[in-house]
Amino acid sequence: MRSVLFFVFIAQCGIFFGELHAQSVEVLVLGTAQDAGHPQVNCEKDCCKRAFHDASQQHRVTSLAFSDGEKFYLIDATPDFVEQLQMAKEHFREQQLGGIFLTHAHIGHYTGLMYLGREAMSGQNVPVYVMPRMRKFLVKNGPWDQLVKLNNIELIPLSENKEVQLQTLRVTPMLVPHRDEYSETVGFRLTTKNASLVFIPDIDKWEHWSQSIVDLVKSSTYTLLDGTFFDGDELPGRNMIEIPHPFVTESISALSPLEGTEKEKVHFIHLNHTNPLFLPGSEASNRIKKEGMHVAKRGDTFQL
Ligand SMILES: [Zn+2]
Ligand SMILES: [Zn+2]
Ligand SMILES: [Zn+2]
Repeated sequence: MRSVLFFVFIAQCGIFFGELHAQSVEVLVLGTAQDAGHPQVNCEKDCCKRAFHDASQQHRVTSLAFSDGEKFYLIDATPDFVEQLQMAKEHFREQQLGGIFLTHAHIGHYTGLMYLGREAMSGQNVPVYVMPRMRKFLVKNGPWDQLVKLNNIELIPLSENKEVQLQTLRVTPMLVPHRDEYSETVGFRLTTKNASLVFIPDIDKWEHWSQSIVDLVKSSTYTLLDGTFFDGDELPGRNMIEIPHPFVTESISALSPLEGTEKEKVHFIHLNHTNPLFLPGSEASNRIKKEGMHVAKRGDTFQL
């Protein structure tokens, strides 16, 4: 009798884990650099000198891909779109591109849309999920308006905090403060039955946001955060007030109330070419390791 019960228990576990697996969503990191990539145009400093000649030291612009089980989706269309779409296609074998979610209208986040146009792949109604100002920007300005007129892309409206239901997950845009010259800026939360991932590649200092970053980390399984600059010493000669991203050192302080296991959820992404976190052995990288946090890498995957 006992062995029969044991068998039933094992069989049920199999079904349970099988269901979990079938419903699980994988998120893939396609790039981790700030908008202009690494190496950055015209940079003659050490951070890019080597990278111009050594592909292994280069970094693609920040973007994620995820699949809802039937189709795969991209977050942001970067200047590295050609290679990143290919990477996602090869990763999510036999699935089609289901759409692109855009965070905002800075060059690293939407200009890859040009590859959907008639000079390139000539997309057919590729769904592009956009907030209201982002939508207006694309509809009112060339060359993007041509993508809309020729139905290369189909703009799907997003609203703040309103979730989009896909097959096995929900995608929710969260407004964040940022230099919003042409569009508002959002981060996204991807939520499944089992887990959630928060992605905020660009934001002004944490204190300018109504949400608590500590609560945000607590409420998610993985948190991918703006890590553009490690600290204030990175851009001598530039007024850092014009570039109000939270420094990674400030994020570390803001997150200090978290327990160790909570800190492990944090992955910094969207690194500027000057950021010492690109160098695995740097003091900055060791600091992140000591904090129990992570630096996102291209090819990283997260199971939700
Ligand atoms: Zn950016
Ligand atoms: Zn550089
Ligand atoms: Zn930006």
